[in-house]
Amino acid sequence: MNKRTVASLAPAEMKGRRALVRVDFNVPLGEGGTVTDDTRIRAALPTLQLLLQGGARVVLCSHLGRPKGGPDPKYSLAPVAKRLQELLGRPVAFCPTVVGAEAEAASRALKDGEVLLVENTRFEKGEEKNDAALAEAMAKLGDFYVNDAFGSAHRAHASTEAVARLLRPAVAGLLMEKELEYLGGALDHPKRPFVAILGGAKISGKIDVIEALLPKVDALLVGGAMACTFYKAMGFETGSSLVEPDRVEMAAALVERAGTVLILPHDATVAPAIAEGAKAHAVKRDAIPATEAMLDIGPDTAASYARAILSAKTVVWNGPMGAFETPPFDNGTNVVARAMADATAKGCITVVGGGDSAAAVEGAGLAAQMSHVSTGGGASLEFLEGKVLPGVAALDDK
Ligand code: ADP
Ligand code: MG
Repeated sequence: MNKRTVASLAPAEMKGRRALVRVDFNVPLGEGGTVTDDTRIRAALPTLQLLLQGGARVVLCSHLGRPKGGPDPKYSLAPVAKRLQELLGRPVAFCPTVVGAEAEAASRALKDGEVLLVENTRFEKGEEKNDAALAEAMAKLGDFYVNDAFGSAHRAHASTEAVARLLRPAVAGLLMEKELEYLGGALDHPKRPFVAILGGAKISGKIDVIEALLPKVDALLVGGAMACTFYKAMGFETGSSLVEPDRVEMAAALVERAGTVLILPHDATVAPAIAEGAKAHAVKRDAIPATEAMLDIGPDTAASYARAILSAKTVVWNGPMGAFETPPFDNGTNVVARAMADATAKGCITVVGGGDSAAAVEGAGLAAQMSHVSTGGGASLEFLEGKVLPGVAALDDK
């Protein structure tokens, strides 16, 4: 990690100064504006506590949802302020605007150790355009900048990129640091054997990750519907499985080039359709019935992937092994998650990236048993692709 973090701030850099902190409070809201899952709010607490204990005056900003071109009460952060106040055990002031006179005055009214949350950054048109004028207005809310929103770091927005160039110091929060350390550590100096597991629906969304990981890993295990595009390339019947016809040629070239590093499932769990309790059965990969679809990796493959995970020292996983939302097609995903939890207990570094993968691991109740479950779906994918994340690049180097 070559970026400065909030842990490196000297007392004089915090005490009495306004910290503009970009957090990821993009949480699900239920009826009557209640926060139905506060995981992301909790994830920001260590950084906030560090700043508050240091006597900083904390000004928080975040986006929530996808409001279209202006303020929309449906996407207000007001309920988040309430929940944060309960979690922090201290008052959290809320400003109904993002920038401007009211927000600036509220930020200047803060005393040491006090907290203000401003309204949804996407209520401002300039946010997603990385607009310079909006960034300047945001910069008036703080004396220095902290970015703890890893999940938004792959987007160059006014609150993640342009404003980070205007305030100094500009440092990573503790959550951001943890993300970069685990993801970056796995990619840059993995303990070997290094195994990657890639699944999910579409090979097209994962091709850059495959390309980036292939030269780094000892084995790349493929699961999910994505396996079927490879099967097609190998000339197997794929029935009604999800296949991307325009990627078959590319899949063939990958198989050819990757050699023994790329491992495809050798059996499949198939059924006529995705339906709870569907008549699922396991077949060898060259025996998928023409009227059925592969909806999960087969039990033999799941067992052999588990063995590979248990003999690895570093495992990075992105993408479910099957249509895990609908049992029994969650078996492969659960077996992989279980094996990763067991590997972690034996000292293996295990990292899970991707929104659906993280949800699957959480659903299986195993999130706490992984070394790291990334909070950033798209951001973790782009990181695994080897891309520079603009929100990270804009922060001060160590
Ligand atoms: P992530 O969000 O972790 O990056 P993806 O979005 O790439 O993962 O893929 C997750 C989706 O892939 C899930 O909705 C899952 O149901 C679907 N999926 C995985 N395998 C299959 C399959 N064999 N058939 C249909 N859908 C599948
Ligand atoms: Mg997804």
